[in-house]
Amino acid sequence: MIPSLMPNYARVDVAFEKGEGVYLFDSEGRRYLDFGGGIAVNSLGHCHPHLVEALKSQVETLWHCSNLYRIPGQEKLAQRLVDNTFADSVFFANSGAEAVECGLKMIRKYHDDKGDAGRYRVITCTGGFHGRTLATIAAGGQAKHLSGFDPVVDGFDHVSFGNLNEMRAAIGDETGAILVEPVQGEGGIHTAVPEYLQGLREIADEFGLLLMIDEVQTGVGRTGKFFAHEWTGIVPDIMAIAKGLGGGFPIGACLAVEKVAHALTPGSHGSTFGGNPLAMAASNAVLDVVLADGFLGEVDRLARILWTRTRGLATAYPGIIADVRGAGLMVGLKCTGNLGQFIARAMENGLLLVPAADNVARLLPPLIISEAHIDEALGILEKTCVELGAGLGGEGS
Ligand SMILES: *Cc1c(COP(=O)(O)O)cnc(C)c1O
Repeated sequence: MIPSLMPNYARVDVAFEKGEGVYLFDSEGRRYLDFGGGIAVNSLGHCHPHLVEALKSQVETLWHCSNLYRIPGQEKLAQRLVDNTFADSVFFANSGAEAVECGLKMIRKYHDDKGDAGRYRVITCTGGFHGRTLATIAAGGQAKHLSGFDPVVDGFDHVSFGNLNEMRAAIGDETGAILVEPVQGEGGIHTAVPEYLQGLREIADEFGLLLMIDEVQTGVGRTGKFFAHEWTGIVPDIMAIAKGLGGGFPIGACLAVEKVAHALTPGSHGSTFGGNPLAMAASNAVLDVVLADGFLGEVDRLARILWTRTRGLATAYPGIIADVRGAGLMVGLKCTGNLGQFIARAMENGLLLVPAADNVARLLPPLIISEAHIDEALGILEKTCVELGAGLGGEGS
């Protein structure tokens, strides 16, 4: 018999009741150090006082207001995003997939407005992830997400991540844009070298293509800069963001330079819920913290400590952890043995991690962690390696 909840998730049998900073508490009162962060969503941890205050005050004032009317929180958040990025204009949605979808629609409309409606194809990278709608699974191009959902939405071509020659070779008369993640998150924490993104910018300019980046996972401070592409110095034309932007409140946004943003004329795109006052209150509160003096520098400092410590762990337990990679507070441990067992064992020991493709366990802690949390996480990871190495329910050694 079918459960009342659709069976599309393979859930771990635990329910969390309460969150406090970097910790989660389950229904039996057990405490977990949350280095999954709701998959890079809880950027300020759980129940951050500034976020709680902002939402409480908004809840007592106004929840929903249609986009038929002005929404001051949107105007404020958009201006702050514009002031702190390459972008000239912002559209608000409710999720990462919708933010990407908006960008994909803008790509088509931009070329159509120029009388180039035939330039609708977008080149994306294998191993990429852009969401679960019909268009975004086509963009991601992964068999495991596409299987059973034919016909695939037309308009996407795929090349290897990191290979500029393949990218050049894939460009045709119908190509309108390139879409990439600065760090492939779901794909297993593969980081683009700066020269790759710089090369994509050059190629886009040479062929008159738009360069769209998906910073749904890497954005809003995750890598120690406000946005990950800032490490490379490039300027994209379109950027989708979401996960960390609301600190746990569902929100997505699509940012663009002026020439592209003009594509969204009244009536051409929209959302009932996108940018509602609660989401705006949450996101403006997140930005108060993330954009405060010194915050991103501290994320970068802690990230470097986390890399050094996790690399040390991999050196000490090469039979369990084959590789450490990542950018900022987005670290992947490539496991040699069974990934599910590694993550389950870490959880039994009180540490939450997130699985990714390529047998990688992801560490995506809240951006507000301290060195003490890193110490605690490494202690648990070491215990986990020792147990798995000793064959305690593991096949990692
Ligand atoms: C999570 C993610 C998405 C999809 O976001 P949803 O909010 O689940 O729709 C898109 N792109 C990237 C890079 C992501 O990590």
